[in-house]
Amino acid sequence: MSLFGQPSAAGDPRATTLRRCGKCKADAVTCYHVTFHYVNGIPAGRTYEHRCRRCGRQFTTISLWRLLRDGFAASLIAVLGLFLAPWLTYEGVFVNRLMGMDGGEWFALALMWAFAIGGPAWLFVLALRTYRLFENPIAQVPSR
Ligand SMILES: [Zn+2]
Repeated sequence: MSLFGQPSAAGDPRATTLRRCGKCKADAVTCYHVTFHYVNGIPAGRTYEHRCRRCGRQFTTISLWRLLRDGFAASLIAVLGLFLAPWLTYEGVFVNRLMGMDGGEWFALALMWAFAIGGPAWLFVLALRTYRLFENPIAQVPSR
């Protein structure tokens, strides 16, 4: 895969493999769109859009690299937020009595709460997109 050419999903098993629908149990789930993610030109994993051709159910999965990469970032944000948000709130309310806080401190407080809520929410989305792989397993070719 070239950094400058058009990326192709042709050699990607996830994009070409038929899966079994977790809802209607038909071997009819195909991948209809692949998103190639890049950060500063460095591959940041892939997102796959799947659809069942029988019941129309749609879901999203992510590549292992995207799971590891985003999982690391989401964990970092979650831990940072969950530790610092309560601490900064305590400091703001009981030490500075809210009045003494400047703009930067309010910003830090708001950012840490955003991390405390957004980090776990992000992890949940990653877990859900990974769970879809097991909920909709690769279709088994009958051995006869
Ligand atoms: Zn289905």
